[in-house]
Amino acid sequence: MILPSFPIMNIEQMTGKDLGVTPLFQHKDTPMLCLRGCPLEGKHAWNVVHEVSSSSDVASCDHCKWYCVVASIAMINHYFGGDISQDRLMYYIRAELYRDYYNPPETDIGHGIGLDVDSAKDALSWSLNGADPGFEDYFEKGEKNLHMNRSKNG
Ligand SMILES: [Zn+2]
Ligand SMILES: [Zn+2]
Repeated sequence: MILPSFPIMNIEQMTGKDLGVTPLFQHKDTPMLCLRGCPLEGKHAWNVVHEVSSSSDVASCDHCKWYCVVASIAMINHYFGGDISQDRLMYYIRAELYRDYYNPPETDIGHGIGLDVDSAKDALSWSLNGADPGFEDYFEKGEKNLHMNRSKNG
């Protein structure tokens, strides 16, 4: 689900510390059907949750390995109390928001396709109940903080 209410975010309080976000593997995480390229059988079949337990599992699948953005957005949604799936995020962008742009429907949940920056922003905002968390500010400060931490940590 998307969030029932607008999350309270204070970027100053959130940057530079461990928020305890539960990490997720990027993967096809529902039985939603992949009509574009997943095999008919096996661990990464077209109609199952792709159970992954390592980065090599992810990398071995042309569907899962493109899910880094939707996995990141799902982690943020879950952090604020949602339970959105990675497949649902992909479906929202490709089949609902940009249906006229992304077609045919065989690509509704991606497969060998990731999200561009604008789609990522749209998906994040949607998953946070329409919040506009001030993306430019967010990313600028986040990037600055990342650089600071990198230089601190070598
Ligand atoms: Zn697929
Ligand atoms: Zn997979």
